[in-house]
Amino acid sequence: MAANEHPNELRRFVHWGPITVLIITSIVTLTTWRWWPSDLTFSTSAHFGLFVLLNLLATYNFVMAVLVGSGLLLRKWKPVDYRETKLMQYCKKCEGYKAPRSHHCRRCDRCVLKMDHHCPWINCCVGWANQAYFVYFLFFYMLSNLHAAVVLCCVGFRFISGFYYSRQLEEVLRLHFFSISMCIFGFGLAVGIVLCMLKLLLIQMSGILRNQTDVEYWILQKASTRRYLAKLKPFVFPYDLGWYANLGQVFNIESQMRSKGIHWALRSGCDRYDLTCEQLAQKADKRKRTRIYKCIRNFTGYWLPIWSQGLWVTISIPCTDDPRIILQPDDIIRVTRIRKHWLFGERVIDGSEDRRKDQRKGPIRGWFPCRCAIDITKEASEIKMKSKIESEQGDMKAILGYNSWTGKQRLGKINQD
Ligand SMILES: [Zn+2]
Ligand SMILES: [Zn+2]
Repeated sequence: MAANEHPNELRRFVHWGPITVLIITSIVTLTTWRWWPSDLTFSTSAHFGLFVLLNLLATYNFVMAVLVGSGLLLRKWKPVDYRETKLMQYCKKCEGYKAPRSHHCRRCDRCVLKMDHHCPWINCCVGWANQAYFVYFLFFYMLSNLHAAVVLCCVGFRFISGFYYSRQLEEVLRLHFFSISMCIFGFGLAVGIVLCMLKLLLIQMSGILRNQTDVEYWILQKASTRRYLAKLKPFVFPYDLGWYANLGQVFNIESQMRSKGIHWALRSGCDRYDLTCEQLAQKADKRKRTRIYKCIRNFTGYWLPIWSQGLWVTISIPCTDDPRIILQPDDIIRVTRIRKHWLFGERVIDGSEDRRKDQRKGPIRGWFPCRCAIDITKEASEIKMKSKIESEQGDMKAILGYNSWTGKQRLGKINQD
């Protein structure tokens, strides 16, 4: 039922993320090549061969991570047995059910199979289909930049110290200022990349060894708190098969393809819907904590709303890349996160707007300033209660009416008799 669709793979390169990676790689590689020792010994040639090989492997895995993509769940996907839909979350955007371990990515605007995280550097998600390529890229990119940093450091030091002792340093610095600056800049870039890649690699490998995605890590954190407070048994993560088998789920193509991104191997005693049921329970808890707000002032949805909201609100913007929502007076918002000056929530779409989907621009979930809305949770629950009572009264009248009608009918029937 699932398929790994690759819409417009090449267009993924037309984005600041992949373009920046390719520019940075070119700067480090060309600078290192320009400064490569000119003595043709076996050692320098072997080093150069290794440098080229590491660069090729890093570039190949980067390109494959972008082109292959994360693996997408088909739109309108549903399980073969319809009864199983009760154990799954529904994705309104994709108009289908979320298969186990699938999550909707806001930036890709699709449900992604075994979604780990959305990576702007590859301009798509890291997921079931491309996680191995992504990890290989981190590894080879780290090694190639480590190699470049060591070479640039040694060669640059030898170059400058040679002229320092011959007392021609000032002259050489003046003549080769650009080249020396590039050497120092290239060295700084390479060291920065090594540290970033090392951190990302450690995060990725610790997740892979537990067979846990970044998204699942947060679900498990919430599960332990929820179950502790509800005095339930601790949650057992159903996909942890032991470190060796876990590695195979990502790096062994045969075992990776067997799952098709949907049918995952389980540890004994676990069910394939354990995690989805836990997610549903967490969602229900979240719904209980949700506050209802009503918009009283327009909000433009700008990232730095200095003119409309003032300096203080602008300075206190939430440090996340979540979207901002455009609001108009009387909009109703379901708020799930509260900060001092900002709120995060989802704008309620009424039936008429739902039918005319393109009426309001911008995302419906995101941040907006506190001063643009007021909390009407109490009033909303009273209205809800009132309408519930009215509907119940309506039901009662209908029942009474039915009863009186049947009574009269019965009475008439008795009189006739
Ligand atoms: Zn979706
Ligand atoms: Zn994504």
